[in-house]
Amino acid sequence: MSQTLQIERANELKHKPDVSTVQFGTVFTDYMFTNRYTPEYGWSGASIVPYQNLQLSPSAQAIHYGQSVFEGLKAYKQGDDILLFRPDQNFKRMNESLSRLSMPEINEENALNALYELLKLERDWVPDGEGQSLYIRPFVFADEPFLGVRPSETYQFNIILSPVGGYYGATQLNPTSIYVEDDFVRSVRGGVGFAKVSGNYAASLLAQKKANELGYEQVLWLDGVEQKYVEEVGSMNIFFVRDGELVTPQLNGSILPGITRKSIIELAKYKGYTVKEEKIHIDDLVEDIHGGRVTEVFGAGTAAVIAPVGKLNIHGVDYIVNDNQVGEVSLDLFNDLTDIQYGRKEDPFGWVV
Ligand code: PMP
Repeated sequence: MSQTLQIERANELKHKPDVSTVQFGTVFTDYMFTNRYTPEYGWSGASIVPYQNLQLSPSAQAIHYGQSVFEGLKAYKQGDDILLFRPDQNFKRMNESLSRLSMPEINEENALNALYELLKLERDWVPDGEGQSLYIRPFVFADEPFLGVRPSETYQFNIILSPVGGYYGATQLNPTSIYVEDDFVRSVRGGVGFAKVSGNYAASLLAQKKANELGYEQVLWLDGVEQKYVEEVGSMNIFFVRDGELVTPQLNGSILPGITRKSIIELAKYKGYTVKEEKIHIDDLVEDIHGGRVTEVFGAGTAAVIAPVGKLNIHGVDYIVNDNQVGEVSLDLFNDLTDIQYGRKEDPFGWVV
């Protein structure tokens, strides 16, 4: 059943900034999508309203017990067209996250249509500079004013938009450094690591701070059970080029199934690379870097698309990969994927809408 979408116009529109000077996630557009869940009506009241503060009780459940999930995707400008990359996958994953936190699932088709309407209204906010895009943040949280620990009865689903430049400031690829975390873990099997829930990010901050203080940009997370197997890097999935083949940790319940990860696997196979999804022991990784078998390491996620890794600190020892330069495979996949996302190259997969 398709929803009716109310649109409340803003009296005044904001001044649009020069996106090349804007810090990630600091500027928001004129409008947002909003929708509310109640036991009586389910998800209802879908509307597009001026971007505004939320009305919330101090006893709203999300604040206390963390029923809160989100997604992240981007809109790109190509000529007069606004392009989205696999947005259906984001709403599908959002429902998997919602289900894990005992929150009501959304109607994926309605959510997509609402996003299209919001983007039609905000099309002038999609920047067209090199590496620039409009970041889209859908999120759902529990807003019932009640302090008991049980699923909330009411929820809000909103979508906000934010124009962004390259994630790390620069638009070109720059190798990052990572610190392999041996004490803190991001998630455990049976937990919520596969879901995009807010608490995962809160739990990651202390390790991120530690890595930064030690002089590294990102954390490489090991599995939360044995702390031996490579899982993710920062808020990205991780890939290795080993013996010329692409290798990435297999999904196991504690790794977030990234849409970039999935797309890189499909794209690389299409381009003729051998791709392996397997358990990667950190000691084997050390040996393979040392022995020259691992020639490239990169992170993969919506924000940076591909982030080459030039230096890894593993158990206190620094290892340099590919002379701290951007590798051939990383660059090849980055160029192809971003060309598809920006509509510069034919999309043989039907990913772009
Ligand atoms: N892992 C984590 C923990 C993340 O937050 C993200 C970003 N959503 C990713 C991986 C990459 O996922 P995607 O490619 O869908 O952005």
